[in-house]
Amino acid sequence: MKNFKECPKCREVKSVIYFDRNSKGYDGYYWYCKDCRKIIRKIYAKRPKIKVSQKMCSNCQELKPIRKFYKNNSSRDGYTSRCKECFNKKIKEYRQTERYYKFVNSDKQKKYRREYYREYYREYYRKSTISGD
Ligand SMILES: [Zn+2]
Ligand SMILES: [Zn+2]
Repeated sequence: MKNFKECPKCREVKSVIYFDRNSKGYDGYYWYCKDCRKIIRKIYAKRPKIKVSQKMCSNCQELKPIRKFYKNNSSRDGYTSRCKECFNKKIKEYRQTERYYKFVNSDKQKKYRREYYREYYREYYRKSTISGD
């Protein structure tokens, strides 16, 4: 168990008591320290939601209309940093790597897929029985 963590924002190594707990975090804590999270929250709260019409692709460095980007809820502006073209290219490349092959064929992934589809169909049948009478 690590007791100290480096906050990537302020670059300070702090005791984990200065980090909020996050059950989804890989080490059980948030990435940023409490202070930085406070600052980030403030910035986010202040920033008005701007509608972007075009965006620079982080990969090909081209300014493209926003419809050329996939939606991504976890990013700041709601879109992926790479354009669709680069995104698909990257995925294609990745799918040819050994790493991907190992990942897809790992027991964990197989189990995950099985459970995912089980859930998916359960939900599907549940919905179809509710809506159809
Ligand atoms: Zn920090
Ligand atoms: Zn691109």
